[in-house]
Amino acid sequence: MERTEAAYPELSGKSYYVMTFGCQMNVSDTERMEAILSDAGMERAPSAEHADLVLLNTCSVRQKAEDRAYGNLGHLKPLRSARPGMLIGVCGCMAQREGEDVLRKAPHVSLVIGTAQIHRLPELAATAWRTGERLVATDLPARRSLEEIEAEEDLLAGLARGRDPHKAWVPVMYGCDRFCAFCIVPMTRGAERSRRPEEIEAQVRAAAAAGRKEVTLLGQTVNSYGHKLPRGITFAELLRRLNEIEGIERIRFTSPYPMGFTDELIDAIAELPKVCEHVHLPLQSGDDEVLAAMRRGYTVAEYEKVYWALRERVPGISITTDLMVGHPGETLEQHENSLRTVGRLRFDAAFTFHFSPRPRTRAARMPGQVPQAEKMRRLAELIELQNAITMERNASHIGEVLEVLVDGPSDKDPSVLAGYARNNKLVHFPGPAHLAGELCQVRITEAHIWGLSGERA
Ligand code: SF4
Repeated sequence: MERTEAAYPELSGKSYYVMTFGCQMNVSDTERMEAILSDAGMERAPSAEHADLVLLNTCSVRQKAEDRAYGNLGHLKPLRSARPGMLIGVCGCMAQREGEDVLRKAPHVSLVIGTAQIHRLPELAATAWRTGERLVATDLPARRSLEEIEAEEDLLAGLARGRDPHKAWVPVMYGCDRFCAFCIVPMTRGAERSRRPEEIEAQVRAAAAAGRKEVTLLGQTVNSYGHKLPRGITFAELLRRLNEIEGIERIRFTSPYPMGFTDELIDAIAELPKVCEHVHLPLQSGDDEVLAAMRRGYTVAEYEKVYWALRERVPGISITTDLMVGHPGETLEQHENSLRTVGRLRFDAAFTFHFSPRPRTRAARMPGQVPQAEKMRRLAELIELQNAITMERNASHIGEVLEVLVDGPSDKDPSVLAGYARNNKLVHFPGPAHLAGELCQVRITEAHIWGLSGERA
């Protein structure tokens, strides 16, 4: 895989700009795309207006995300008309799902590049510039050998340099084998596959050497890491290996699958000093029948067992979740059951959504689709309940001293620093900008719906 200026003279002296939407995996993919394009002789432009190649790294998880991507493509149209030499490309999950349809719907787009074809970016961009052709590359790795895939994904992940000077995001596994009824990820990201532990370790060591204090391990079901690797390794074992790396102060991971929390993993979270006290534990629904329709693979009672084990065995842990209302067939009673579960568990925070039918998923074809207005009403009820719980959970930290990794001055007030506590709560406190990247002890004085504020202890 050659990635040098000489390999693609068409790219030399040109600039790129990547717009990123969606999850942390997309943020991590963007870092890889930027590294690949820079290695091919291109420069990063400060904005789309200044770039020769503009890429949209898209999300497909909800219809709204795709509408937004097409909206953004629309905004780029006048730019493209004014500069005919400019190339526009669509990458990520929507590119994977829509393929050639993107070219039909957006005639000013020249490249459609799927989630497993990022490594071909320089070649495809160079060909498009040389020939004027519009190109689509959306093969998933199932068509290549496991060895090829592993080697390529390790290489690509290792290339990412990251723009955040204090934190690194490291993919440890890709894809998902679970096929929840509502979810498009298995179609856009392909089958589950794990990276080799030595490669992950090397990448985390490099991040530490570059001054990163925090690393977040990424995967669609991150805690199923390793079980398909020839020399089996569990996610807990990976955490133990990474915990030994000097310079790294904090380890996070997202998103786990609730039933993947073995005793071994809960022990690792409780015992390892660098693993932060926060778990994002997607519940989706608090009703057994809806969970079965979603094919989530657990009941509320089984989920609760994991939830309370984490709360009991990891002191100070915060638990956040994903909650969906209006899955096809969800009755009013089932929705109310779900609200009762949420009221009982009292999550620290939740990402709340209404069901959005995704093409080729089982749920899109299910009978009993809930009308949009009713989905919105249920969502408003859920948000009101969860907001009150989030406020209560946040208020429970008043008077505590929390360790905060400072990101830098807050966007709204440069005299206030913003950073995250180990429990993943956003904390604001007054302080000088030079503390960015430092771990500060902060006494919490106020709680908000968005997080906490305080002063240096
Ligand atoms: S486990 Fe997560 S990524 Fe996999 S299908 Fe279910 S919701 Fe989607």
